[in-house]
Amino acid sequence: MENNNAIYVTRSSIPSYEEYTEEIRDIWESRWLTNMGSKHIRLEGDLKSYLQTPYITLFANGHLALETVFTAMNLTGEVITTPFTFSSTTHAIVRCGLTPVFCDINPDDYTIDVSKIECLITPKTSAIVPVHVYGNICDVNSIQKIADKYNLKVIYDAAHAFAVEYKGVSSANFGDASTFSFHATKVFNTIEGGAVTSKNSGLIPILNRLKNFGIQDEENVTHIGGNAKMNEFQAAMGICNLRHIDAEIAKRRVIFDRYAERLCGIPGIKLSIPNGDIKSNYAYFPVVFDRYRYSRDEIVTKLRAENIFARKYFYPLVSDFECYRDRAGFDSSKTPVAKYIADSVLTLPLYGDLGADQADRICDIILEKD
Ligand SMILES: *Cc1c(COP(=O)(O)O)cnc(C)c1O
Repeated sequence: MENNNAIYVTRSSIPSYEEYTEEIRDIWESRWLTNMGSKHIRLEGDLKSYLQTPYITLFANGHLALETVFTAMNLTGEVITTPFTFSSTTHAIVRCGLTPVFCDINPDDYTIDVSKIECLITPKTSAIVPVHVYGNICDVNSIQKIADKYNLKVIYDAAHAFAVEYKGVSSANFGDASTFSFHATKVFNTIEGGAVTSKNSGLIPILNRLKNFGIQDEENVTHIGGNAKMNEFQAAMGICNLRHIDAEIAKRRVIFDRYAERLCGIPGIKLSIPNGDIKSNYAYFPVVFDRYRYSRDEIVTKLRAENIFARKYFYPLVSDFECYRDRAGFDSSKTPVAKYIADSVLTLPLYGDLGADQADRICDIILEKD
């Protein structure tokens, strides 16, 4: 349970109680609780314009968005992806009967290393599933070139990249599709929730059916779909949170900048600061302890002693999970950069209401200043 002075890695942003209850009032009148009601329709419209994307469809969560889009695209065989991600990316690939093929990552922004993709392509490869990890946008142009050359689909796991832009283009508009998570811990939340965006209008009706048992209309069921619909209470939370998202991101930026200012240029501490091409959402503040006087794990212990809970995000690598032990191809020694980063990275607490003084306190502990 949360105790009063503990600091966790994140804290969900929520509207005022009054704002949410006002938003859900008409649900009591309509009794329309789920199945693409007015809140769902409204949030899709709001997000389309906020993310500047032509097509979007909402999901119960980000994980089902991933599984459903893989199914909708009829992927087969092998999928080239990154091991430096949340379990969901890899699990979705495996749960869809596909084989993940792990590509190593860049040591600077931790996204997939495009120079290592081509040598992993085989006749069985059907797609590339990169992750805009911590909101850092992948090398989307090089990835698209490779995909075009080998006729592969590209699906971005954009769970971390809500509201991020690269050279003025929304993260929702790269590749064949992008998936988002609106989980409580993400920059924008619908309690639980997710979405798929795509420039391809043909994909959306299929996704809409697959998230609702494959139902086309009352008498026609065209796909073996599951149930992955966002309900009206989730959508209502999204409508409220979206009103405040720019303010939330601006508050995060203050904390992010304070961390950057305090920790930049310290020998043994490596930061990943978005460059001028990126409009960031300040979702995470990853720090890599690279021959610092304390190891990552020692820093974790020091912070914990002060009731501060940073996260080893992502450690361990997905390819080292117990559930994948002894599986061919799940060998973290083949992605040495990812392994090294997983062993040395820590994401510091970051959320709008954290307070710059708390960020300072955390830096003081890391830098041993008081
Ligand atoms: C959060 C997250 C997901 C899963 O989203 P849920 O909404 O929690 O199901 C997938 N991929 C990445 C990279 C994530 O961080």
